[in-house]
Amino acid sequence: MPITPQAAAYRPDPRIESIRDRLSDPVAAAAFPKTILRFRNRRWDKAVGLDSLSDEQWTAHFGRFEPLPGNLPQPLALRYHGHQFRHYNPDIGDGRGFLFAQLRDGAAEQPGGRLLDLGTKGSGRTPYSRFGDGRLTLKGGVREILATEMLEALGVETSKTFSLIETGEALQRNDEPSPTRSAVMVRLSHGHIRIGTFQRLATLNEPDTMRDLIGYVLTNLYAETPGDAPAAQLLDLVCRRTAALAASYMAAGFVHGVLNSDNINTTGESFDYGPWRFNPTWNPDFTAAYFDQQGLYAFGRQAQAIHWDVVQLALSLRHVAAAEELAPALDAWPAHYERAVAAAICGRLGIAPRGEEADLALLQAMDVALQRSQVGIDRFFFDWRGGGRRAPSPADPHYEAEDFADFRTAIAAYRGTASLDHGYWRDAAPCSMLIDEVEAIWSAIAEADDWGPLYAKVDAIRRMGEALGS
Ligand code: AMP
Ligand code: MG
Repeated sequence: MPITPQAAAYRPDPRIESIRDRLSDPVAAAAFPKTILRFRNRRWDKAVGLDSLSDEQWTAHFGRFEPLPGNLPQPLALRYHGHQFRHYNPDIGDGRGFLFAQLRDGAAEQPGGRLLDLGTKGSGRTPYSRFGDGRLTLKGGVREILATEMLEALGVETSKTFSLIETGEALQRNDEPSPTRSAVMVRLSHGHIRIGTFQRLATLNEPDTMRDLIGYVLTNLYAETPGDAPAAQLLDLVCRRTAALAASYMAAGFVHGVLNSDNINTTGESFDYGPWRFNPTWNPDFTAAYFDQQGLYAFGRQAQAIHWDVVQLALSLRHVAAAEELAPALDAWPAHYERAVAAAICGRLGIAPRGEEADLALLQAMDVALQRSQVGIDRFFFDWRGGGRRAPSPADPHYEAEDFADFRTAIAAYRGTASLDHGYWRDAAPCSMLIDEVEAIWSAIAEADDWGPLYAKVDAIRRMGEALGS
């Protein structure tokens, strides 16, 4: 179950200082012509004690990047490599973002709270910008708000969009009508140590730094004491968390779009939303990125893709550990995934799992029913919430048809655990985030500078999150 925000005082804790010389470069933010506050996360600001900032102070920190008290004196562009669509790229790194601050939240799940990062997107050029302008489009920022809010509400462990400030520049992009408006975003995330961070150390043959980085991730991000075999210990944790991540994408009907190894966080937290989409129907071949012509990161291939990335982590860790030490953790990934996907689907259906065999049969029946009928994913989970205690919507004749026969039989044996008291469950239709609505929300901003539909949607999503108990 993802962690919900729990109020806490501001507690700066820039742990990266111990390893920053070998993993990052100090950089400066761009000076923007304007800084217009468009979104501040009123749900998560209190979890890190920043809710008392005035809008002026907020803009000074998250638009002009004046350091937060007791935090990093200068932003750090993080170094990493990664496989992009299976091709190794040693020329990447934080090209339009940096690590701005580190602080602890109020999560009771971890003593002393979790160590979180405030990282940016669109804050200017860095040594890793290559041909890029270091900027983020306003539309890209709005899309990231919508993705993170929806995923959080659906129970996916995700980075949070903490701040979005419009910056008054005109950007040229080939995937948006241009010139297009600019913005700088700040995300709150559980670390920024990616699989690609380890791949870089393997490629540059820096085993000592890799050992230190393993210690950093175990101690600071997993709150674990490194034991005799820290590499295997870390790999085991990463396997569990990334399997849960892949499973949660399926239950959410979400397609990330760019599951490159530099976009996979070693905490298993989902982040970095570019060409993402929610899948309207259960179509395994549905892709999000127009440039993913092979369908490498299609809806139904996401588990495989994330597993492949984790294999790259294991190969990197070979620089500090023997293959036999690492193999058991890696071999367990498919089993972790199977358990996690059953748990995630049962969670969204609001039913109690019944054990491996029964759950697998239920999932298979669901897969057949949804693929054949092409009932909307959100509609399906809405109607069957609690296992059908809530009478399946009279609206959809598909549920009575042959396609759903096995699913109806399978789910009848399940016990509903979800409360249906929340008013959301009496709405005519579920809350969704399909592409037409994303575009409509953006159009209101682009054409009339009307931010109302965006804020209304965030409220509606958070209400759904309440109803789902996430
Ligand atoms: P992404 O596909 O967003 O994960 O980005 C892959 C790499 O390209 C990372 O190193 C980014 O920092 C870099 N990048 C993406 N967009 C830009 C940009 N507009 N300017 C500079 N670097 C960028
Ligand atoms: Mg990225």
